[in-house]
Amino acid sequence: MDTEYPPLKPLQTGLRCRCPRCGQGRLFDGFLTLRKECEACGLDYSFADPADGPAFFVICFACIPSVLLGVWLEVAYSAPIWVQFLVTGPFMLATCIPPLRPLKGWLIASQYFYKAEEGKLVRLPATDAPQSVK
Ligand SMILES: [Zn+2]
Repeated sequence: MDTEYPPLKPLQTGLRCRCPRCGQGRLFDGFLTLRKECEACGLDYSFADPADGPAFFVICFACIPSVLLGVWLEVAYSAPIWVQFLVTGPFMLATCIPPLRPLKGWLIASQYFYKAEEGKLVRLPATDAPQSVK
């Protein structure tokens, strides 16, 4: 069934929060809640499990500007705590919350594109013939 759809790059579909298979249907129902399936092609989104991936990337990369701002305010101006709350707090929210949605979309699209899934043990079928050990 996937042969009907040309492969779409995860960045193209994921950052736009679109279906990783058709690129048309929406991925989210709300801010970060995943839909059950694609409204355009019917792709079941149950494979999608980015877990803490989006939060991890936001913590590692998007928080850097707000930490730098907070440290700069402290070092340069010895800013009181209320200034930190009024300036650094909203700045941190503005740099951390908006990237969550496109990052989650990108991770889900990458999961679909690369067929990433949880590892499974593969058991070889038992053979009827006895194996001799010499
Ligand atoms: Zn779709």
